[in-house]
Formats: sequence, C-alpha cells, structure tokens
Amino acid sequence: MSLLGDPSDEILLAQYTKERHDQHFGERHVQEQLGIAKSMPPWIVQPEMPQQHSDFYANLHYFSIATTDSKNRPWATILTSPKGFIKPLSSSILSISCIVASEDPFVRAIVEHEEGLGSSEGKKLLFAGLGVDFTNRRRNKVAGVILQSKVKKLSKGSSKLELTLFTNENMGNCPKYITVRTLQYAFQEPEKVEKREGTGKGKEGIELDKRSLDIISKASTIFFATRHFDNNTAYENESDIGLNHRGGNPGFVRVDKREKDTFVMLPDFSGNRFYQSLGNVQSDGVAGIVFPDFSTGDMLHITGEATNIFNEEANSLMPRTTLITQIRITSYTLLYNSLSLSMNSPEKLSPYNPPLRYLKWELEKMGRGAYAGGGSGEKKVASLVVIREVGSMVKEFTFRVKGNLENVRPGGYAIFDFKGAVNLPYMHMNPGQPQLVNDDLVRTWTISSSSSSSESTEISCMIKLNPSGLISPFLHSLKKVQLELGLIGVGGDFSCFPSEPNVVLPKKMVWVSGGIGITPFLSMYRAISSLPGAETDIFLYYSCRDDDLHLFFELLKDPNSVTSKVRLHGKVFHTQSPAFLSSLSFSPLELQKKLEEGKNWSFEKRRVMKEDLAGLNDFKKREVYVCGPGGLEERVVGWVEEIGVKGKQVHRENFSF
Ligand SMILES: Cc1cc2nc3c(=O)[nH]c(=O)nc-3n(C[C@H](O)[C@H](O)[C@H](O)COP(=O)(O)OP(=O)(O)OC[C@H]3O[C@@H](n4cnc5c(N)ncnc54)[C@H](O)[C@@H]3O)c2cc1C
Repeated sequence: MSLLGDPSDEILLAQYTKERHDQHFGERHVQEQLGIAKSMPPWIVQPEMPQQHSDFYANLHYFSIATTDSKNRPWATILTSPKGFIKPLSSSILSISCIVASEDPFVRAIVEHEEGLGSSEGKKLLFAGLGVDFTNRRRNKVAGVILQSKVKKLSKGSSKLELTLFTNENMGNCPKYITVRTLQYAFQEPEKVEKREGTGKGKEGIELDKRSLDIISKASTIFFATRHFDNNTAYENESDIGLNHRGGNPGFVRVDKREKDTFVMLPDFSGNRFYQSLGNVQSDGVAGIVFPDFSTGDMLHITGEATNIFNEEANSLMPRTTLITQIRITSYTLLYNSLSLSMNSPEKLSPYNPPLRYLKWELEKMGRGAYAGGGSGEKKVASLVVIREVGSMVKEFTFRVKGNLENVRPGGYAIFDFKGAVNLPYMHMNPGQPQLVNDDLVRTWTISSSSSSSESTEISCMIKLNPSGLISPFLHSLKKVQLELGLIGVGGDFSCFPSEPNVVLPKKMVWVSGGIGITPFLSMYRAISSLPGAETDIFLYYSCRDDDLHLFFELLKDPNSVTSKVRLHGKVFHTQSPAFLSSLSFSPLELQKKLEEGKNWSFEKRRVMKEDLAGLNDFKKREVYVCGPGGLEERVVGWVEEIGVKGKQVHRENFSF
C-alpha cells in the first residue's frame, strides 16, 4: 500500500530516501577560499525528522518555504495560517494548508509546475522550508520534495494552497542574528502588486521601486533561498534546495546600482562554517530572497544571479568584509498586505549582529572612505613608541609610521588592524560577549596630535579604557612599548579646518562635547593654537564624568592656548561618583576656583541642558560642532535644531561605527 495512495510515490521515495547530505564542491570551495578546514559531521543533517522538529512545526503559524520556478530560479516566501496548518503525518511527511497571495512567486512556481511548464516537467518539485519561532529564536530546517500540490483560486488576490512535502534533510540551527518579535495570525487580503522581469544585463536590467528599496533598508530578517542541482537537473540524487534565515541590524543588506542593474549585497556573518547556502551559490550561481516587512505585512521577493565575492575583492567593494554574496536581480515581486501576520511587540535585535558594513562608495559619501584603505592597497605598519597616562581611564598611545601619511585635517582619525597582534579564535557562539563572534579587530581613534619628519610620521591617540571591550583593555594592559599594528588608513571630515585651501576658519564656533568625544576638539584646538594669524572665538560645552576631567585639562595645558585673536571659553558640566571624589588630589571647590580664575570658564555640577545652549546670546551665529557618546550627541543635535540652527551649520562626529 502506498503511503499516499499512489504506487509511483513508493518508487520515488525509495530513490529519494538515500542519504544526500555530503558536502558538495561548492561548499568546499567556499571553505577553501576562507582557509577553513572543517568537514560537516554526517549526523548534522538527519534523514528522519526528529520528533521535536515535528512538534515544533505543528505549533507554528508561519513558515518560510522556497522552491524553483519553471526557469529554475529560486523563490522564497512566508506561509501563514492559524496554528496547526503544518501537520506532520510521519517522520518524513508534512502537509500544509493555507491561504496565500495568488501572485506570490512561490505560488506561481507551483502553478507553473502543475501546468507542466519548464525543465521540471515530469518530475517533482524540490523545496526547502525553515521554521523560526521569533519569540525564542528557535530555528529548524527541512528540505526534500513536494509530493503533491494544489492551488485553488479564491476571491480577489487569494488562493488556497495545499502541499504534501516529503523531507529527507532535517537540521537544527543556532539562534544567532534572529530578531525577537511576537506575531499573531491576522488574515489580510493581498492588494497591489509591483512586478518586474528582466533577463539580460544593461538594457533589461531591473530597477527597484522606492517602496522595495525602503523594505530592504529596514529589514533585519530575510530568508535566503538557493539551489544545488546535480548535473544541472533538479531531482538527481544530490540535488536540493537551500533555505535559511539571514539577520542583522536594519540595513545589513546593501543595495548597489550599477548602470541599469540592481545588486543586492549580502555580507557574510560568522556562522557554523558549513556554507550550505553559499556553497549552493558557488555551484549554481542563483539565489532568491524574501524581505518581509512585519510592520505592514508587505513582502518583497527577489531572484537573480548570485556570486560569492571573497577576501581582497570583497574588501574592496565593502570594506571590512571577507565574503559577500552579490545578487544581480533578474526579477522581483512586491506584494502589499500579503503577509497575514500582525506584530504586537517591539522588535529586539540580536546581540550578535555586527555593526553595519557599508559599500565603499557609501563610506566615501559619509566621509569614511579611509576604511577602504586609502586606495593604495599597501597597508602601512604602525609601531608603538610611547604610552602616556592621561587619567586613570585614558592613555595616549603614540605610533610611528614609516614615510608620510596622507594629509588628515585636525579632528581626523586613524584606523588600525589588530589582526596578528591580538588572537581571536573562531567561536560559534559567545553569549557573554556576542560581539566578539564577528569582531574583525579593526578599531578607529581620533588622532589627537601628529608630527612628521622626512622619514616617518608620528600619530598619537587618546584611548579610553572600555573595561568590557577587547582592544582598549589590551592596549591599557601593555607594560612595554612593543607592538606592531597594521594601519588601514587615516581620514575624516569632522574638522573646523577647511578641506579646500584659501578657506578660513569660522570666526565663531560652538563645540559641544561629552566624555572621550573631546579628542577631535583637542586636535583642532592644538592646530588652531599653532596656526599663524588664526582668529576665532570658540565656546565649548564639555560634559563629563569623573576622570574625564583630565581630558579637559589637556585642552587647557596647551602652551599656545592664549593667543590674542583666539579665544576658547565655555562651560564644563561635571558629574562625579563618591569614589572619584575621594581619589581627587584637589577639592571640587579648588577646581571651580581654578577654572574661574581665567574668567573663561564656568563650572556646573550637573549635566548639560538645552537651556545652556540656548542661553548663549550669539548661538545662532556660530558654526556648531558636536561629538560625544551616542545619546548625548543625539540629544544635542535635537536641541540645536530646536534653537534654530540647522543644515550645513551643524557638524557631528560619531564614535560608534
Ligand atoms: C571616528 C571615530 C573616532 C574615535 N575616536 C576615539 C578616541 O579618540 N578615543 C577613544 O577612546 N575612542 C574613540 N573612538 C571609539 C573607539 O573606536 C572604540 O569604540 C573603542 O576604543 C573600542 O574599544 P574596544 O575594542 O575595547 O571595544 P569593544 O567593545 O571590544 O568593541 C566592541 C565591538 O564594537 C566594534 N567596534 C568597536 N570599535 C569599533 C570601531 N571603531 N569601528 C568599527 N567597529 C568597532 C567591534 O567590531 C566590536 O565587535 C572613535 C571611534 C570612531 C568611529
């Protein structure tokens, strides 16, 4: 008796039940490119569905799934229905019944197959599915063959979809990069569709509409579909479809437009290192992605030609990456209201998400082109020559670099590479320090001062100890000046010094700074003080806590600081802990006296407020420069705007990257 009432299915299943989870050449190629010698243990992919996976699927009300269309292009989607719409019938059979958007490309692929279109004619379609529970980040994968399918048109844009899936690949996955959210089933009728098809490059390239670009820029969760067709045919022994989740901070998928083509650029984050999806990209060169917008229920589906880009080439397109998957979109469908889920919780991003990686041209536009290594391709070596203690939490490190560096405006920064100096072994998970999993050991610090001779350049950086960090504790613990680092580059455009020659310093400025954010101002002030004929009035608001006060003293101690036509004055806002007060060698009262002696400073034992800024008579006539910890900087920029200073008159530096 056939399992499904059709004797031919018995033959099919017997053929298909072969264990088919050896790593193929594509997966091994990716590992080789990255210098990873790791084979996948045979037990990772199980032919039988474990009971806990069956129970897991039976409890879901959403499930992502992928297949290929009549042109063998992968498409992914998310199916939804009240809980119980996925029924495990045995340890290898799942049945699914739900309402779908008729224009969903996954559904269209099923219909095309039913109509006998394309190369899969006479064969069963392959599928891959992924169950994710967004409330707890559990995730399980299945893959196999679609035994039976039925699509029946209902009213408007909806259809009823019924699938019987045979699965012989089952695998659990880690919770990394998954955004937590609560989703409830809430049926909505799909509305409008944007569809574009293109085949070749150039003239027939695809441009995404505005809404699609917006969905990509906000997505922190996507589903990535790939295929591996053995001998270029579906349903040979080794053929299968791949589907997995990819997640990151919103914007982690970048879009690159070249002439008429649109490319989706997907940086690789540290995973299990088996490279199942990227191996498929390597072997078959195609991929599809669904970008769900959980806040509106819209879904963007793309498919296209996919390429893996490795190492130096990856770094030259997207600095600080060693592997990118680039997808040239050949077709896309944007469906409004096609995801019948309503989100009833705020989204919580994964602590494993690395900082956003930008394309080289995006960095250049942001004034951060130096991350691309200055274009020369030659990495300089920086040797540590002096360590000076500035305060208990801040030390100044001076590095010597052979030859001359590119000109950096005062306020600019240097980017160092600690690979080789600090050893960070591969780790799959690290709940205590999740950011370490993707740490590329690249760090940036403002150049607080620099000097050069004909043979070498010295640059100094004041580095605050971040006790829970990796690199600053390493530097602060150094007892000897014995360290060589890669210098990726120098750059930055946060400066009151003009980028063009013959442009003069602003006559009046406001500098607002907090904590370690004073370093660019130290650098600018040093340069102003030694600039012949400099003429400017600077009002500084400096907000700091405890020991950071020493950074302020660094500013005052500049020998040239009182030149007749340069005036630096302002307000210092200081909050302190009892521990700090007891460690001070002078009383706060003495400090206040010291500051007020010069009539240039006033001292407040509180945080800076909007009224302080608004209270400065000629505030609106000044160029405004802001640099401080993220929160302070955001607040200050908001206040400045409320006071009526906007646009190019406001300059800001951001220390988080
Ligand atoms: C333009 C600029 C100027 C800066 N100037 C100064 C300065 O003058 N003095 C100072 O003390 N700090 C400065 N910072 C902040 C400094 O780069 C680091 O955040 C800090 O020193 C990190 O120390 P850590 O390794 O101990 O932190 P960790 O906590 O180990 O770093 C945590 C994570 O953050 C990421 N990360 C940390 N720093 C950076 C970075 N700079 N770029 C990209 N990713 C990063 C890492 O990938 C890592 O995963 C500046 C940052 C920028 C972007």
